[in-house]
Parts: sequence; C-alpha cells; structure tokens
Amino acid sequence: MTSLNGPRMDANIVVLGTDNVGKSALIVRFLTRRFIGEYGDIESLYTHNIVVDGREQTLNIWDTPYSQDLSSESLMCEKRVQWADGFVLVYSICDRSSFNSVSRLLQIIKSTKDFLGFEKMPIVIVGNKRDLHHRRTVLSEEGRLLALSADCQFYEVSAAENYHSVLMVFHGLMDRIRESRVSVKKLAGIKGIVKSMSAVFARRRTDSL
Ligand code: GDP
Ligand code: MG
Repeated sequence: MTSLNGPRMDANIVVLGTDNVGKSALIVRFLTRRFIGEYGDIESLYTHNIVVDGREQTLNIWDTPYSQDLSSESLMCEKRVQWADGFVLVYSICDRSSFNSVSRLLQIIKSTKDFLGFEKMPIVIVGNKRDLHHRRTVLSEEGRLLALSADCQFYEVSAAENYHSVLMVFHGLMDRIRESRVSVKKLAGIKGIVKSMSAVFARRRTDSL
C-alpha cells in the first residue's frame, strides 16, 4: 500500500525483559501517554497506528512474558526473531539481575539471528525506573557500554514520570528499522548486480571455449 509520501512502513516490535522491570508500563505509556501503576501479567499484542514524516505506519507491539528457564527462552527466541523487525530490551536501574538478563537476552537474540541467517536486528536497550535513582544499582555508563558493545541504542527512562523519553525509545527503534530496511535493499541490489555480472562472465567463458 502507498500513501502520498511513499510506501507504508509497518513494523513488529518485541518488548523483552524480566518481570517487574516496567515492560507493560512502557508500552502503555507510549500508546496512551498514561501511567496507570498496575498492569497485570497478561501477554498482549498491541496494534497502533502513527504518522511519521507524513507516513502512516502500523506498529505491532508484543508484550512478552519472561521465562526464567534459559532453554525455553532460547526456544521462544526463534519465533520472536522471525516475527520481529526490532526489539526493546528492558531492565530496571534498581535491579542488577534484570540488567544481567538483558546481556543474556542480547546473546540469545544474536545467535538466533545468525542461525536464521538474518542480516540485522535493530535493538534498543532501556534502563527504566530512572525516577528511583536513590535506589540505583546499575550505573548509566554500564547500560551505555553494553549497548555500545552490541551496536544497540540506549536510553534511560522513567515510564512513571516521563512520556517524552518513552516516545524517544519507540521512535528511535523505528528509525533504526527504517535504516536497516534501506541497507538490506541496497545489499540486495548489489548482490543482484554481482549475480548478473557473474552470469555475463560465465557466458563469455563458455562462448570462448
Ligand atoms: P513488567 O512485569 O515488566 O511488565 O512490569 P510492569 O509494567 O507491570 O511494572 C512493574 C511495576 O513497576 C509496577 O508496579 C509499575 O507501577 C512499576 N513501574 C513501572 N515503571 C516504573 C517507573 O518508571 N518508575 C517507577 N517508580 N515504577 C515503575
Ligand atoms: Mg507486564
């Protein structure tokens, strides 16, 4: 489908992280601008239409439950990587183990992506609950370094107190998804040229025999 300003860009986003880090709070804040406080534990798929640069986009956001068991997390990961155009990995700045889980999730996503032969997977790492800085156990620098080492974007936010920073997370990810699509298209274009050139040379070789 095309709009006035070009093709429509729909995107599937998976939100991952251990329990209680504020995954649902972030999503609900982004979609409704509100912070409710309690969200329950249901797995949900949200569909949301937004307009970016004059283009209408549909976002599907998957609020996933976390499994403590790493092997079932790896199993689930294949399904998620196949479905997703991008990931939001969330930890709480007051919960060190949730930060460690984000490192593990990064590794699982990377190996699954490589296994499936996917080129790029845009990922945003989010340190949530910034308003609770007096209880902080994970430094901003640690989050930033982890993101740098994995070529991800990084934000520290407070779903409870700040709508704008949450908006930046999702818009930042969508920008990344858009860029990765352009580079995949370019790569496909280059591969196409290489293919047709090698076909020409192969023909020449057989002609000269
Ligand atoms: P999930 O299990 O990762 O989906 O976490 P929830 O979104 O259900 O949030 C878990 C708890 O943390 C809830 O009591 C929220 O009210 C609270 N919470 C979420 N985000 C923030 C935040 O930015 N600051 C504070 N202080 N509490 C938050
Ligand atoms: Mg939740």
